[in-house]
Amino acid sequence: MVKETFKRELLSIVGKDNLWENPEDVLCYSYDATPLPPCKPDLVVRPTTEEQVGSIIALCTQEGVPLIPRGAGTNLSGGVVPVDGGVVLLTTGLNRIVEVNREDLYAVVQAGVVTARLAAEVEKLGLFYPPDPASMSVSTIGGNIMENAGGLRGLKYGVTKDYVMGVTFYDAVGERVVGGGKTVKCVTGYNLPGLMISSEGTLGVLTRAVLRLIPPPRARKAMVVVYDDLIKASETVSAIIAAHILPATLEFLDQFTIKAVVEATGVDLPTDAGALLLIEVDGHPAQVEYEYREAVSICEDSGGQVRVARSEEERDEVWLARRKALSSLARLKPTLILEDVTVPRSQIPAMMATIEEVRKKYDLLIGTFGHAGDGNLHPTILTDRRDEKETERVEKAIEELFQGALDLCGTLSGEHGIGVAKLPFLVKEVGEGTLRFMKRLKGGVDPRGIFNPHKLVAAYERGLERD
Ligand SMILES: Cc1cc2nc3c(=O)[nH]c(=O)nc-3n(C[C@H](O)[C@H](O)[C@H](O)COP(=O)(O)OP(=O)(O)OC[C@H]3O[C@@H](n4cnc5c(N)ncnc54)[C@H](O)[C@@H]3O)c2cc1C
Repeated sequence: MVKETFKRELLSIVGKDNLWENPEDVLCYSYDATPLPPCKPDLVVRPTTEEQVGSIIALCTQEGVPLIPRGAGTNLSGGVVPVDGGVVLLTTGLNRIVEVNREDLYAVVQAGVVTARLAAEVEKLGLFYPPDPASMSVSTIGGNIMENAGGLRGLKYGVTKDYVMGVTFYDAVGERVVGGGKTVKCVTGYNLPGLMISSEGTLGVLTRAVLRLIPPPRARKAMVVVYDDLIKASETVSAIIAAHILPATLEFLDQFTIKAVVEATGVDLPTDAGALLLIEVDGHPAQVEYEYREAVSICEDSGGQVRVARSEEERDEVWLARRKALSSLARLKPTLILEDVTVPRSQIPAMMATIEEVRKKYDLLIGTFGHAGDGNLHPTILTDRRDEKETERVEKAIEELFQGALDLCGTLSGEHGIGVAKLPFLVKEVGEGTLRFMKRLKGGVDPRGIFNPHKLVAAYERGLERD
């Protein structure tokens, strides 16, 4: 419970239209896109200026009240669940695209700008912002930076971190901090943009960013490749990369996911296929033609049947199918647990075999899709949290999936972060020395621990508990 005086001070900063406290108003801020038990915040505030963010933080630090920065709440690791209550700070009131610079190829945006809106605005000006998480129609730039979100174009164009040139954030005493800027090169001082990327709201509240833009590709070609066998499809991914072909997109859907997508969207895909690869090459027309021919030949040699998108409509349908994979699976069972294990790309066939073994061993429904070109797979477990016996099997399966990825020199999370959902496993990947360093870092910049408590660095205590 927060004090009345604290509430009154917050009210004087943001005004009554931007503060919520009634249980029914704050309920929808007690969870995010992760299937975890909800925790209600005491208050929700929506600053409309960046300076207000500083004042809110200073007040929270003074009173020792937890502060949970929240964009669209689409993260998949429990990153905005207010475990101890406190104040949820919505960034959606900071939604200005401040500048798009066509000469120097950058955009300055506030943290609450929705990703797809930025992409569409810069496209109108003949520019390209490549990071495209499947959630981009609602996710915010702040949330993307804090989770280092990836997308369908990650293989060739990289992920959010590759486009962050500068950041402005407010620290634990409410002071404005600026790192990086509008120049391509900048090595003045610590790499503060690097520090903020993937920090999951635990080190400060981001209010604006300078993002790199690039010229759009001049041509592109998309295709669907149909396989009768899942392992053959995953071997093709390794073969394409080994041949030094770099498609813009190289996505994978297994049979279970294909069926779910077809049922949900009616898109024209073969439901008897063992697996599909969705591939797009782009760039200069001559390069597109060369890469397209090479990719087709590799796919056919490995037993795939290639269907090329003949029009923009067919291309859009291919990508719609992929973007709808998660929501299509979500219709099938009450609880969906989406993992994002990531392995070196040559290890994708081995990781697919591990997923299949785990599925059989624990008798679970698992659909797998993902950014195969990045080695980033989303084994998605469909279950019902109310079924205690099955939930026990799900927990064991997740642990084995994580261990399988680590055994293949992979990682627990390619793009969804640690949040609260993966805390118990973090120590396995990074070790205790790293956790202790993260804790000292956090303690130095946020001594009262107000920023997003119980997330990420909280793995230190959890890690030791497990010993
Ligand atoms: C259907 C669906 C598809 C998805 N597809 C993808 C995908 O393809 N790739 C991918 O990477 N992810 C994907 N995600 C996950 C999610 O959309 C991303 O993690 C996204 O970056 C979260 O953005 P958000 O605005 O919703 O952030 P939130 O969920 O609100 O917050 C995420 C984290 O960032 C922190 N945060 C947010 N804003 C700020 C700020 N201004 N300052 C400090 N901290 C802040 C929060 O505290 C939290 O730790 C998907 C999710 C769904 C539901």
